[in-house]
Amino acid sequence: MSGDSFGPLTDVEKIMLDSVKATGPISFSTFMQLSLGHPTHGYYMKPEHAVFGTQGDFITSPEISQMFGELVALWMIKQWMDMNVKIPFRVVELGPGRGTLMNDILRVLKQLPAARGKLKSIHLVESSAAMRALQEGKLRKASQEGNFQILWHDAIEEIEPEEEVFTMLVAHEFFDALPVNVIERTQQGWNEVLIAPSNDPSIKYTMPSSDSDQNSDSPPQLHRTSSRWTRVLTPTPTASSTLLGLASPRFFSLPVGTRIEVSRASMNQARGIGKLINTKGGGCALVIDYGADRAFNDSLRAFKQHKIVDIFCSPGECDVTTNVDFALLKESMADLVSTHGPLSQRTFLMSMGIEIRAAALVRSASSLERKKAIEDGASRLIDPLGMGEQYKVLGAVSKVMGEEGQDVGEVWPFTVIQDSAQQSI
Ligand code: SAH
Repeated sequence: MSGDSFGPLTDVEKIMLDSVKATGPISFSTFMQLSLGHPTHGYYMKPEHAVFGTQGDFITSPEISQMFGELVALWMIKQWMDMNVKIPFRVVELGPGRGTLMNDILRVLKQLPAARGKLKSIHLVESSAAMRALQEGKLRKASQEGNFQILWHDAIEEIEPEEEVFTMLVAHEFFDALPVNVIERTQQGWNEVLIAPSNDPSIKYTMPSSDSDQNSDSPPQLHRTSSRWTRVLTPTPTASSTLLGLASPRFFSLPVGTRIEVSRASMNQARGIGKLINTKGGGCALVIDYGADRAFNDSLRAFKQHKIVDIFCSPGECDVTTNVDFALLKESMADLVSTHGPLSQRTFLMSMGIEIRAAALVRSASSLERKKAIEDGASRLIDPLGMGEQYKVLGAVSKVMGEEGQDVGEVWPFTVIQDSAQQSI
């Protein structure tokens, strides 16, 4: 197979082929885990891929402008002040990348007199050693100056809930990297869409229903370039696909032929967030990512050098990502915390004052070039035709109970603003 027209086999593809030989077609979640998280061959594990930004495969909001992290910090500080300014706090980040967002947050915390001496620790949930090294380099100075510890964790479950500390958490472009399974509604229930080699005659599984109107999430350029891999449908529902179909009541009445991406890992992480916040000390969280308040049919895509490529193009060499089902995150933590939004990034950042902040930065900028970079950065983050609408912001805070046990907490800017996000599934 290595000599076919699809280019050389990657290390991840070799593992995929071995796995198919041993146990049959593989799930999308296994594919994503291998492509992104394989200890040596996964995309995020390789030092050469730890470069986001103009030279990398994608550029993220914190890398576009410092204002992004500053406004996230302001939101968190506001929650802490509303709750109890006497209590110390800690900051947790899931998937911190190059550490830029955390660095911007720490700069704001340092400047606020009320927050001085209150920051106890920083917790970074990061699976990649290459990324950890970048984060360490970026944050060392702040941690020495501020006299707080930075702790790294492989998973959110490793972070101890603390009763006397307020926990502020942020997850930016983290959930989109978590593995999804793809399931399809059939007459028999929920079957699973799996991945098999396209030229293997021994695979007898049926093909999944072709892209129908419902499966309309993928942009046209994503549609099925020729590849050494193809999608197949399990002949019957499996234990795993049946359970995933039960993950949300929204899925119960979906018609035959509907395909959805469901992330068990995202549900677990969202619950982990809820547990960290749902303590006596309280806490708040922001989840920022692309997606919407609904499930997606076909949003899996891969990026290489700022271009969308077929998801089966060079597994392990491209960033593989999906849209986030924010409704599923909310459902996973709703009994633990109060959830708010999602709002579009544009609405969130504008309500938090990005225009005022940009004007202040422009006033103090030393060159015309710098002024323009600040304005361009702000425009890009709130662009209604780009990141401003594609990215959504979900808030979660400790429940504030009224006399009758109802949740009465109002959380700016979520409560006041009605966003246009629509829910279908
Ligand atoms: N938040 C950063 C980086 C986003 S890239 C930014 O906005 O710039 C995703 C980050 O999550 C990377 O640091 C990656 O190594 C990490 N990551 C991906 N999957 C993970 C997992 N399952 N557990 C922990 N970290 C993960």
